[in-house]
Amino acid sequence: MRPIGILGGMSWVSTAHYYARLNQMVAERMGGLHSARILLHSVDFAPVAQMQKEADWEAAGELLADAARGLEAAGAGLIVIATNTMHHVAGQVAAATALPLIHIADATADAIGAAGLKRPGLIATAYTMEQRFYRDRLEAAGLDPVIPGASARTEIHRIIFDELVRNEIREDSRARFEAEAAALIEAGADCIIFGCTEVGMLLNQDNVAAPVFDTVEIHCRAALEAASFETGETYV
Ligand code: GLU
Repeated sequence: MRPIGILGGMSWVSTAHYYARLNQMVAERMGGLHSARILLHSVDFAPVAQMQKEADWEAAGELLADAARGLEAAGAGLIVIATNTMHHVAGQVAAATALPLIHIADATADAIGAAGLKRPGLIATAYTMEQRFYRDRLEAAGLDPVIPGASARTEIHRIIFDELVRNEIREDSRARFEAEAAALIEAGADCIIFGCTEVGMLLNQDNVAAPVFDTVEIHCRAALEAASFETGETYV
């Protein structure tokens, strides 16, 4: 079986969670000393975040496309972009190699659909909440996402970039995230998407009063399923 190729570092904090969860999932499924075969290209997040800010998605896409080509040359069997926001350039990355790209929004929409839910509240970066690239995928899957109001979006985005991607966990920010999840449920959401790979640092099924869909968890599971499907081996 070929290794899972991860485009990570966006942030390194959430990529560390991907690394841990992929290994834990393989150990749970296969037992013994089994662990995940992974190739990781971890980028420097500062220039990527700057490109996001300047809306230079073309340059950010080329940077990740280049990294994806490197993973393919190194022997990866599939590509995972370990961030929701950078799925803005998923098309550019997918076109750069012959490898399958496991799309985080599609995997999440599948999980929500399988649970019989329809109106996910979306907690994510402002890019993911406000632009069309992510919501379109959810809507194409028949979902009707609920987005926080403007001031909530600004504060959620600030907490992600000022704290979470720097590995800082603050209890006042956790309370704010809990309040925003509750507000989405109040507004009609029947579940909550942790649509940024750092959201699980503050929220979990115990402090949200509706089913939660953590994109790290879902994406890792989908990558492992695709890896076994690709090879017919017993990875999951
Ligand atoms: N990891 C985050 C996400 O899932 C935010 C970091 C980024 O902007 O890539 O969207």
